[in-house]
Amino acid sequence: MRAPAELVDVFRSQGLKVTPQRQLLFRLLHENDRHPTAESLHVQASSLMPGISLRTVYQTLTDLASMGELRQVSFGHGPSHFDPNVAEHHHAVCDGCGAITDVYVDGAQHLTVDGLDGFRPDSTSIVFHGTCTSCGAAATSPTEGTS
Ligand SMILES: [Zn+2]
Ligand SMILES: [Zn+2]
Repeated sequence: MRAPAELVDVFRSQGLKVTPQRQLLFRLLHENDRHPTAESLHVQASSLMPGISLRTVYQTLTDLASMGELRQVSFGHGPSHFDPNVAEHHHAVCDGCGAITDVYVDGAQHLTVDGLDGFRPDSTSIVFHGTCTSCGAAATSPTEGTS
């Protein structure tokens, strides 16, 4: 995703209004590697700009996604996540806390796949499920720590 100041220009050039609410969302999304959902972004935005509507958040996310500034990713269940990292990458999802991390896979375009039978894939999305480092640490050392 481009920098907030550039997005203001892009939106204006497309005839879209750039409200203070939208500019706040641009700032919150820029270099955001937490893969927020519309709801989680709304909670964060509301704490900074009370009264911002979920509808505004959805509309801005949809506009950014249709301009190719955001990728929309989903992991089978639950709401879509929005990803300002539009470079080729894959994800690791923690089954404990739900944290989503960007991972880069070598050779993902060159996998040997059986059973496609004429199906022509346009893209490949690899998701690693497991336990993140903080959940792993919490599980293996329950008695450690001073609290
Ligand atoms: Zn975790
Ligand atoms: Zn990502």
